[in-house]
Amino acid sequence: MKILVLNSGSSSIKFKLFDMKDESVLCSGLIEQIGENDGHLELEFGQKTVKKEVVIKDHAHGLKLLQELLIEHNVVKNFDELAGVGHRVVHGGEYFSSAILIDNKVIKKIEELSPLAPLHNPVNLLGIKAIDREYPSLKQVAVFDTAFHQSLPPKAYVYALPYEYYKNDHVRRYGFHGTSHHYVAKEAAKKLKKDENKTNLITIHLGNGASITAIKDGKSIDTSMGLTPLEGLVMGTRCGDMDPAIVFYLSKRFKLSIDELDKILNKKSGLKGICGYNDMREIEQSAKNGDELARLALEIFCYRVKKYIGAYCVAIGKVDAIVFTGGIGENSSIVREKICCGLEDSIFVKFDKEKNRQDKDIISKDDSKIKIFVIKTNEEFEIARQTYNIIG
Ligand code: ADP
Repeated sequence: MKILVLNSGSSSIKFKLFDMKDESVLCSGLIEQIGENDGHLELEFGQKTVKKEVVIKDHAHGLKLLQELLIEHNVVKNFDELAGVGHRVVHGGEYFSSAILIDNKVIKKIEELSPLAPLHNPVNLLGIKAIDREYPSLKQVAVFDTAFHQSLPPKAYVYALPYEYYKNDHVRRYGFHGTSHHYVAKEAAKKLKKDENKTNLITIHLGNGASITAIKDGKSIDTSMGLTPLEGLVMGTRCGDMDPAIVFYLSKRFKLSIDELDKILNKKSGLKGICGYNDMREIEQSAKNGDELARLALEIFCYRVKKYIGAYCVAIGKVDAIVFTGGIGENSSIVREKICCGLEDSIFVKFDKEKNRQDKDIISKDDSKIKIFVIKTNEEFEIARQTYNIIG
């Protein structure tokens, strides 16, 4: 049973094809520069990479070229052979609390939710509509970044603003990276040999975007991202938590428009705003070389995560494990060490520096009451699994 997973952007589509019989990856790749003169298609299967430079008119054309390439290289005979297509959709609002089989009603609802994710939902729909038009018999499933966090209680998702903004305009915490948090939570439950629904975790996704989630009995009960992915942890270029009054202050002081401030907080802040780099590898290197601002950025980044761990421990009660994932969480022993050192004084975590430096998948001491895991996220597989569960 083959499931194609698509992550559609405005001018690109990332794809991965799974065989759910043995959960193997048949191929993966990227369709880029859609609508430009320098279209590019890249397909990886086995040890082989195939590249094709071709003008790609639109998303439907890109998928047609992908089908041709998959047939040419004997990965599939045609798209009709697929059991279904799973799509990453960023915002499901309060309407979608789990993945769903796509029909016209679902498409309309995703369109209606676009004001909450104007940069994402409309472009996610491009892939859905292209498949719908070109391969109408294929079943499609939408898997939402927000869905896992729909279990948050009102005390965690209602902002202390005039209540009508929530009631009438849906201004609330939604949370993102849900597919990643959900995936690593399931993997952590397996490691703990516990029922997923009886597992209490703090999952920390640290990539270019970063978020942390409190999971009680397998359900997300709080998460750091909010109405948008700007809130919470310090990120590559996003500020995360700050005093909202800073917006008024900067606006008045520098006569900045809302759009200019939006750009500053989303694209010019975070690690980049503090030290000029948003890539953690460069920051670590610069910090080693004595760059004081890189050191400060690293400290602020890790301190923010540490504060949230403390808060979520209290919110959850008894925590079974802390999980690191995402490009930084999976690879940066320096970041993990800065976050975990000292936790032993306040919560029941015994961090093992040596295991951490050796990049082990369990980086707590054997007798630590709260375990610390490093788990590679696999959002595409989680989308394939949820798609399979719906259409299977
Ligand atoms: P995205 O959120 O775009 O999916 P990733 O999860 O791939 O991003 O994470 C990207 C981040 O991971 C970058 O800041 C990058 O520097 C960091 N990263 C990747 N490998 C390492 C490494 N070996 N050491 C430190 N940071 C790393």
